[in-house]
Amino acid sequence: MSDMESKSISSGFVIRIEKGEELIGAIKLFCKERSIQAAKLSGIGAAKNLSLSFFSEKDKTYIEKKFNKNYEIISLSGNISKFNNEIIVHAHIAISDENYNVIGGHLNEAYISVTFEGFLEVFDIQLNRKKHPELNLNLLELTDGS
Ligand SMILES: [Zn+2]
Repeated sequence: MSDMESKSISSGFVIRIEKGEELIGAIKLFCKERSIQAAKLSGIGAAKNLSLSFFSEKDKTYIEKKFNKNYEIISLSGNISKFNNEIIVHAHIAISDENYNVIGGHLNEAYISVTFEGFLEVFDIQLNRKKHPELNLNLLELTDGS
């Protein structure tokens, strides 16, 4: 059971993630428990021990880098979708250090060091991903146009 605190709003949830919890895993579990299949995710807070990636368009692969200090989460933005029946939390993050330098990337993992205050705007649709063979990425599949 997720121990994430939340408050229901007309468009979804206001969420708060506790210190020590891993952000991507906590949101994934929250969505699983509430059968959320499609959503917009945003938030701010503070985290440490982050794993970010940069997608090399040339090599068609993610290059991972770890950031182990404590950072402010300046902005997290992403979406919730499904790939092969699994909930996918796709998020990008901008973080700043004690010198106010901002870095960012595709978020793999982040441990909340103080708090995370976020919004999940839930959509009443199926949002699926499909493997793009040339890019080697699972892209959103938006085919019906409705
Ligand atoms: Zn990404």
